Parts: sequence; structure tokens; C-alpha cells
Amino acid sequence: MSGRALPVTLKARPGESAGGYLLRTAEANGHVNVYQMLSGIGFRSHRLALAATLSDPMRYMAVAKELGIESEAQKVVLPRAGSTWASPVKLMDMIVPQAMLQNDLECFCPRCLEEEPYWRKQWLLRPLAVCVEHECLLINECSVCSKPLNLARGRLTLCGTCGTPFQSMAEDPINVNLIQDFVTLMKRASDAARSDAWSFWRAHEQFEGPGNTPAQNFRRTCLTLEFMVGGGRAVRHIASEIMHRSSGLHPRIHLVPFLTASPSCAGWAEEVISLLPPLDYPLCGKDGRITLSKTEACSVLGISQVVLETLIRKGTIKWPLGGRRQQHIAATEISEYLRSRPERVNEFETPC
Ligand SMILES: [Zn+2]
Ligand SMILES: [Zn+2]
Repeated sequence: MSGRALPVTLKARPGESAGGYLLRTAEANGHVNVYQMLSGIGFRSHRLALAATLSDPMRYMAVAKELGIESEAQKVVLPRAGSTWASPVKLMDMIVPQAMLQNDLECFCPRCLEEEPYWRKQWLLRPLAVCVEHECLLINECSVCSKPLNLARGRLTLCGTCGTPFQSMAEDPINVNLIQDFVTLMKRASDAARSDAWSFWRAHEQFEGPGNTPAQNFRRTCLTLEFMVGGGRAVRHIASEIMHRSSGLHPRIHLVPFLTASPSCAGWAEEVISLLPPLDYPLCGKDGRITLSKTEACSVLGISQVVLETLIRKGTIKWPLGGRRQQHIAATEISEYLRSRPERVNEFETPC
């Protein structure tokens, strides 16, 4: 049974996103924005709570029930492939980890909105980053005021800051063949291969540092495709990135995101290392701020936890003592240790 039913119930559009449907509903019922509509049913939301509601099927359906739009909401909600809040979701016939998702209502194709003004679920998949149909990059900020899109705006297709219609914005043309290849490959891939691809994509994101623009996500996906098909370009690209970083840390430290992502990502990282000449730059200031957990140190050194504990006990590696149980070590310490014994990194497995 519905709670306080809205005067107008809209039909969900094919492939419409949960957030898009809610904002269209707020508009159709004369609300200033989604927050105002939700406050009418006693839902005191702020931006984070609303974002969480849009990505949580249970919370979303509870809200939809109160609004009396349950049956249509059922069509737009993003189903989860598990029972916890961290479970992956089902999107485009794929199981997708949460880390691969964009916030709802924050990325769009202007030409799709021009054809039909509703928010597409597929725009939530960060690795997609393009509109395959219109062969352009998705847009994640207003082209007039440069503000990112946010959930608080009152109109689905107008910038919440300056009021510019999203349909009036020019698209950025791009060759989408690689993205199409990626999607085709992902749909055909085994669960293990698909999981490896997501792990690689995420590792590359961590390797690069912060950034979630469609252009950055597009590059990550192209590189992930190279990883999936075993192309050497991705290996050479990352090796070159490491060589051009102004850092004195050992290459293995730079590759921690890959070394800890999955066994095949770790194997791939070893290929990168094999391409790199010995790097011997002086350590710089920012290097000292990077720390490693014991799990990360094991991956960097290529040793087991037992061997690491032995090396710590013998004083070979001076792990910092502290009140916290999971004390981290400065990456510079591990880097210097690797430098002093680079050729023996694989011999540590024998704790003697
Ligand atoms: Zn489009
Ligand atoms: Zn604007």
C-alpha cells in the first residue's frame, strides 16, 4: 500500500535511472526539487543520504512506496547481485562493482537528452564514459558555468547553477570503437576475466590518482581493453608513466594498486617492472608521505606474510611500533630495502 500518493505518476522510460525518474516525478508534481518532494513524506535528506537512497534498492523502494510510485519505481531501480550495501549491481547484463558506478544524475549525453529528456541508467557506468549511439564523450559539468551537476537541481535537464539547458550543450565527438569492443568483450568474458578487468580498471584509477571525468574514465577503459587482450601498449604506457614521475620510490611501490588488485593484475605489473631500467633518483619530499600496510608490503616485496613477520622479527625490516595494531610503514623504507637487495626479491620466500 502506498503512503501519501502523488497526484501525478509518470511512466518509467526504457533504461531510465532511479534518480532521473525521481527528479522527473518531482518536476511533474510541482516540487522545487527531489528534496522538497521527499520532505513531504518525512524523509529528511541531505545530498549524501539522497545519493545513498538512489543506489540502494531497499531504501529506494521504501521511498517509492511512500510516494505511491512503487510499480514504476520497480522498473528503474538498480538491482543488486547480493544482499549487502557493498554488493555489486546488475547493469547492462553485467555484474558491476559499486566502485565502477557514477552518481546518478551527474553524467549525460546532450544528444540523447535532446531526443528524449530522461536520464539513462547506462550513464552510471563510469568505464563506459561515452554515448555509443551519438559517438561522443559524456558530459559531467555545465559548459557555461563549469559547475558539476548535482542532485539538488530542480530540473532534470537544466543546470542547477546557471539554468543552461543540457540539450543546448555541444557534444565532444570521439571514436567509440574501443568502448564497443570493451563492452562486447566484457559481456562474453567469464566471471573471473570480468572481475580481473574491473580490478585492473580500479587499480589504474588508484595508480593515476583522483579524477573522475569522462575523458579520464575513457582512457582507463581503453587501457583495460589492452590488458584484457594482452596488448603490450598498456605495459609500455604504465612503464613510461613511472619513468616520468618525479619520484625516487622504487617502481614496485608505484605499482602497488596493480600488485594488490588480483593475481593476473600482479602478473601484469611484473611485466611493467621487467621493462623498466634501474631507476635511481633521489627521494623527494612527497615520497615520504606514502605509507604501506603489511599486505601491500608483501605484494611489493613478493613475499608471504610469514616471511615478512620473520624479516621484521630479525630487524631486517624496521616496522614502526605504535599503539595502533595496523601500523603502516613509510614507503621510502621498503623502497630503500628493495634498492639494497633488488636481485634477491624472489628469494625471501625462505625464512631462514
Ligand atoms: Zn547519446
Ligand atoms: Zn551552468
